[in-house]
Amino acid sequence: CYLLAIESSCDDTAAAILHNDKVLSNVVATQEIHEQYGGVVPELASRAHQQNIVPVVTAALRKANIDKKELSAIAFTSGPGLLGSLLVGTSFAKSLALGLNIPLIDVNHMQAHILAHFIDEDGYEKPSFPFLAMTISGGHTQIVRVDSYFQMSVIGETIDDAVGEAFDKSAKLLGLPYPGGPLIDKWAAKGNPKTFPFTRPKVEGLNFSFSGLKTQIMYFMQKQIQQNPNFIEENIADICASIQYTIVGILMDKIKKAVKQTGITQVAIGGGVSANKGIRHALKEAEKNMGWKTYLPKFEYTTDNAAMIGIVGYLKYREELVEKNNYVDTGVQAQSRLKI
Ligand code: ATP
Ligand code: FE
Repeated sequence: CYLLAIESSCDDTAAAILHNDKVLSNVVATQEIHEQYGGVVPELASRAHQQNIVPVVTAALRKANIDKKELSAIAFTSGPGLLGSLLVGTSFAKSLALGLNIPLIDVNHMQAHILAHFIDEDGYEKPSFPFLAMTISGGHTQIVRVDSYFQMSVIGETIDDAVGEAFDKSAKLLGLPYPGGPLIDKWAAKGNPKTFPFTRPKVEGLNFSFSGLKTQIMYFMQKQIQQNPNFIEENIADICASIQYTIVGILMDKIKKAVKQTGITQVAIGGGVSANKGIRHALKEAEKNMGWKTYLPKFEYTTDNAAMIGIVGYLKYREELVEKNNYVDTGVQAQSRLKI
């Protein structure tokens, strides 16, 4: 099966070509326009997707050395995400599938962040069922029990901000450009994580909360800057290390609790924040000390990409779930709020 996958849920326009579970090409156009606004501007994102989609798909086909007539199916992100962004990928995928008369497969973006672990990659093992997945991204923070490819249940999630937002908003307070998560990660490597003790929120069960941390950091900065206007510049590495240490602590507390509750010791992470070195290190430590088996995605499959959409498309195609979807069901809609 040669499959084209398209992802356009937020601010990355992405296309990939897969041959079964192997990735032949994985192209991402990141929209830099949002940097100057300190966050994603939905209207601009949608417009940029319109400009990028044809060149990105063309590049993916060319890199894979595949002609569009050789495609067996097209997969696309139907949600969750920004509606105006999703519509660009959805309309494009529908038209192309209709034109080529091949199956069209809708994919849930959050399932894709989890199932990215099933891409065939040298040096990466695939999880076996059941496993726990912690999806940590720009819009979500969830603990998901995964019983099979398409049997998943969310057993914990954030009650306010997502963990990626916690990183990005903290970075913004430090004057770092958007998205600040990777920059906090970079600075954290040079700092002492115990310098500034921030407190972790107390949230029931397996749920998360990150909005209090952001406020706590804001007041802390304001107070420090009053005493020393150069506080941030002088302490950036230690501040970032302390923020990262606190966030990783919150994530680890909950995943440990989930392992205890479910008895499942296989833990996978997915989503943009799974690129973070702090969480990767903490999971590897847990693997050593607590006998877990952990799965860390390859860096190119952490933040938004189309390869992860492609693997879900392939799995649905293989399990013949597409038949239920009809060949080209033009009624398939983009949905900004789509549950796993
Ligand atoms: P969702 O998947 O929930 O719809 P999204 O698609 O916008 O949200 P992703 O692309 O999966 O989110 O992840 C982007 C987030 O990951 C951003 O908040 C970014 O700051 C964060 N991020 C990326 N790399 C790192 C890193 N190394 N450390 C911390 N955060 C990171
Ligand atoms: Fe995402």
